[in-house]
Amino acid sequence: MTKVAEKTAETIAKNLTQIEQQLANLANESAYVNQVTLVAVSKRHSSDAVRAAADAGQRQFAENYVQEGVTKIAELQDETLTWHFIGPLQSNKTKDVATHFDWVQSVEREKIARRLNEQRPADLPPLNILLQVNIDDDDNKSGLAPAQVEQLAEYVNNCQQLKLRGLMTILKANTDSAQQQQSFAQMRALYQQLQASYGDSVDTLSMGMSGDMRQAVLEGANMVRIGTAIFGQRE
Ligand SMILES: *Cc1c(COP(=O)(O)O)cnc(C)c1O
Repeated sequence: MTKVAEKTAETIAKNLTQIEQQLANLANESAYVNQVTLVAVSKRHSSDAVRAAADAGQRQFAENYVQEGVTKIAELQDETLTWHFIGPLQSNKTKDVATHFDWVQSVEREKIARRLNEQRPADLPPLNILLQVNIDDDDNKSGLAPAQVEQLAEYVNNCQQLKLRGLMTILKANTDSAQQQQSFAQMRALYQQLQASYGDSVDTLSMGMSGDMRQAVLEGANMVRIGTAIFGQRE
């Protein structure tokens, strides 16, 4: 490794340790969660950056773009990592996602769920699914309206090669902390309804990014998706 790469790897490892510590503290403080899973969002960062994080013990990674993700997954095949797809998903790209990823957090249409179910190879475990909810009714964000969650959950739950695990959201940018808290709390209520219907197999509420991680965990997130605070600014 060059000097610069070594320094980058050191920074990534330090950031991961710090964030894991913060998450442990937040989980203590939160009335709703015991433990929080950290998913490292590696979009637009190199495979070397992912490897540095893996060397530091990080196991869960997320990508937004299908081709970039598939390439990185191939380059890191020698590591035992879990890969989450978190970006918008077009139906002509579902096969690559069903074949190479372990989770899809951005499911919002029955057609996409149907294709993922049909295309998930039979020799792999079921693909873990989170339904993406547009909790702030933000025109710039994808996701289901809260009232549509029940119907798509029912559909996914009936798919043999899919496993319904919970919900994911991205909040509207630039809202105040009172609004954030309210939106995260609404997500928690939706998630609790889903658990009441499907039991403990629904175990994941994915919300919180570098900018709103604290509020998200205090309101019940047990999975956060962090990019910038681990890897630095994207190009
Ligand atoms: C990019 C992205 C993240 C990470 O955002 P940061 O602000 O860099 O932590 C999380 N979730 C989704 C869906 C993303 O697209």
